[in-house]
Amino acid sequence: MKKLLAACKASYSQEEYERLKRAVEFAKNAHAGQLRESGEPYHIHPEAVALSVFDMGMDENSVIAGLLHDTLEDCGVSYSTIKEMFGEEVASMVDGVTKLTKSGNVNITSREDRQAENLRKMFIAIAKDVRVVIIKLADRLHNMQTLEYCDPEKRYRKAKETMEVYAPLAHRFGMGVMKCELEDLSFEYLHPDECRRLKEEIEPQQEERMNLLANAMQTITKQLAEAGIEAEIGGRRKHLYSIYKKMVKQNVTIDKIYDMVALRVIVHTVNDCYAALGVIHSMWPPMPGRFKDYIAMPKTNNYRSLHTTLFGDNKMPFEVQIRTLEMHKAAEYGIAAHWMYKEGRQRQDELDSKLAWLREALEYESLADTTREFVENIRKDFFSDFVFVLTPTGEIIDLPAGSTPVDFAYRIHTDVGNHTQHAKVNGSMVKLDYKLKNHDVVDIITSQQAAPRRDWLNFVKTQQAKAKVKNWFKKANRDENIMRGREMLADAAKRQGHQLADITKSDYVEEMVKRYNFSNMDDVYAALGYGGLTTKQVLHPLIEQFRKEKKERELAERFSKGEEQKSNDCTGIRVLGEENMAVRFAGCCSPVPNDAIIGYITRGRGVSIHHAECKNVKHLLEDAERIVTVEWMAEQTQKYPVNVILVSHERVGLLMDITQTLMSMNVNLMGISAKKDDSEVVNIQLSFEVKNSEYLNSIMRGLGKIEGVERVSRVV
Ligand code: MN
Repeated sequence: MKKLLAACKASYSQEEYERLKRAVEFAKNAHAGQLRESGEPYHIHPEAVALSVFDMGMDENSVIAGLLHDTLEDCGVSYSTIKEMFGEEVASMVDGVTKLTKSGNVNITSREDRQAENLRKMFIAIAKDVRVVIIKLADRLHNMQTLEYCDPEKRYRKAKETMEVYAPLAHRFGMGVMKCELEDLSFEYLHPDECRRLKEEIEPQQEERMNLLANAMQTITKQLAEAGIEAEIGGRRKHLYSIYKKMVKQNVTIDKIYDMVALRVIVHTVNDCYAALGVIHSMWPPMPGRFKDYIAMPKTNNYRSLHTTLFGDNKMPFEVQIRTLEMHKAAEYGIAAHWMYKEGRQRQDELDSKLAWLREALEYESLADTTREFVENIRKDFFSDFVFVLTPTGEIIDLPAGSTPVDFAYRIHTDVGNHTQHAKVNGSMVKLDYKLKNHDVVDIITSQQAAPRRDWLNFVKTQQAKAKVKNWFKKANRDENIMRGREMLADAAKRQGHQLADITKSDYVEEMVKRYNFSNMDDVYAALGYGGLTTKQVLHPLIEQFRKEKKERELAERFSKGEEQKSNDCTGIRVLGEENMAVRFAGCCSPVPNDAIIGYITRGRGVSIHHAECKNVKHLLEDAERIVTVEWMAEQTQKYPVNVILVSHERVGLLMDITQTLMSMNVNLMGISAKKDDSEVVNIQLSFEVKNSEYLNSIMRGLGKIEGVERVSRVV
């Protein structure tokens, strides 16, 4: 189409222009032979779509994607062909638009479900690449403009969908021109009678209004030029549907609508806006209460302008809107304006961060029971009126009207939300269910101890906050489940005579975790807690392992008890380097404190303690790696058994003297045996307990003084 190419030629480089020309040809060939319902060749449609994408000021890739938007669907053109010819970005946008259009899942039969599915696709597209949705809007606009050729049923259906989905979408994106056109076109098909009546009502005074506007334009142009303010001035009529809405909503007649026509004054800077306002207010009397500063206080869709209503000649009121060119483009094309400037990258990042919440919201699909519920939740957030609030550092956050500090906190970050303790608005403490207002400065005070409360769910507005609070409780339930699961297992173990600690040693647990494909024992407890596993499933393998290991241990112990040993819990012996070794005194040598001793590691894992001069030590030393260094602890409270042999001449009263001596030295005799040689000499073996070797030595000296005693020696 000549018009598209002609329109683009001025702003495109030669290379860009050639590429666009190729795309026009490509679309024409792809749609060759196809007709619109109007009877015109089909390619009229994609070219009209591409032109309106261009008019919104969007990049060339978007314009080309607009040209090709119906080729994948209807013409058997493949994705890879488009990718090859026009690059990945174009191909992916075309694919995106196609997916939005396709009816998708054929199993969906109810109208509500189908609508939900379509909206879901729309939100996903917005989160992925907003340009896809802008192209879709341009597509819908042209289809609405040519709707008269369709049958009445289709007309009504398309008009309804446009009014319910596409116009609100355009509004949400701040695309003023698109929104007004879509609304007026739908209005005509949805309410033909009201539409006609309204037109008739407006008609009589319309000429007078336009004349007034023309005169005012001249006057203002002159006055502003005299004041040295450069300005571009244009007029606009209020669009039909917004007049209708205002009349219905405010229940007023048409003479109470003061902005039927408006003048637009477009200047270079914000300062010029206010200067121009001053000039204009000095020319006509302003209507009280009608001045609005949407520059200082932008509207909820970020619309910015100065509005004022003046009493013109003949007392006929008219509105003047004053704004910079940037504000104007933003108001007309909204989100599409993000691609308009050469420094577009930064504005796209800004756009990206604005849509971050949507991306995040889409991730919570699993928390909703149905697609319908999920989509409804996002729709509420997406299409509601917005409030603009500020972080303490001046960052603007837009939230659905009715949002609270908790919504704000979760928008900032999940962690901030989860640890919200108090909130301050404009420096004063507010309740957490406070309804935020435009331009509130919100400061969230967090604490690591603070946690979400269930009653937050009663007042939070955004689905994002709702989902995150619910998610927190789901996770918190995990902790409860772990606790409950552990208790269940402990109880079940006790009934079978086991302690939980005995059967949940790390080796056993590792097996268990592997068996059920979990990553740790807490997972197992959690599964027990919520009923995913039974205690029987968990308990039996654990007990099995415990029993097996216990048996092995007992066998090993029995095996190692080669010689008679006396075990003692408080041996008074320290094994160097080995804290927890069981220690026993070997039965052969009876060492006592301060004796030189050695330790020998037996097979049963214990250490047996021998006197250094014990007759057995010699061959134990051959097993050098089993020898450990042992020592007596400093403080000894107990006594140790010892055997002493006394060699004496036999005489009457000898045993009496021995026992007397021991008693006088406070020694408890534990055993005595005597053996007589064929000579007059007797060997007497005594067993008693002593504290240490010094004491033993003094006892032995005492025994040696007894009459007839030849020799006293110790058995080691
Ligand atoms: Mn189309």
